Amino acid sequence: MKKLLTIIASALIMSAITSCDKDDDKDIDTEKPQINASIDGASPANAATFYFGEEIPVKLLLTDNAELGSFSVNIHNNFDHHSHSTEEEGEEHHDHEEGEEHHHHEGEDGDAFQFTQDYTIPAGSKEYTVDTQISLPVKSDDGDEYEGGDYHFMITVTDKAGFSTFKAFEIKILQKE
Ligand SMILES: [Zn+2]
Repeated sequence: MKKLLTIIASALIMSAITSCDKDDDKDIDTEKPQINASIDGASPANAATFYFGEEIPVKLLLTDNAELGSFSVNIHNNFDHHSHSTEEEGEEHHDHEEGEEHHHHEGEDGDAFQFTQDYTIPAGSKEYTVDTQISLPVKSDDGDEYEGGDYHFMITVTDKAGFSTFKAFEIKILQKE
């Protein structure tokens, strides 16, 4: 009998702990937002080729368990074939920025194209489909043609709680012959 009571008591305690956890999850957002690149018509795709003078269509699904905050897009050259961890934003991102600076000193003929833009997401969104285009100018402000080659298209999404996730796509941007 005593043993049975112990079992019942521990079962009650267990269920109390479990329901407590569930309540916490509702209030505190501890999960990172997600970037879904496998929706219908998703773009860009890894290894896709785009051309200066045209546009990169961007279609990706962003989700968060609680509420999305904002997202940003960054395009930079991958002439040195560096890599990014696609899930975590961490030291590698920093390393990469150093690598990028490195590149500027090499003094090549063309200019590498660069693009950075922040976008807002309507308040209260748990899901948001990015559906936009990014124009690729043929020439820089200095009048130099941008250098074609390997580029990285990076999208970073941040949720309302401040957690962020990024995804890097390896693309080619070329000058039309
Ligand atoms: Zn990169």
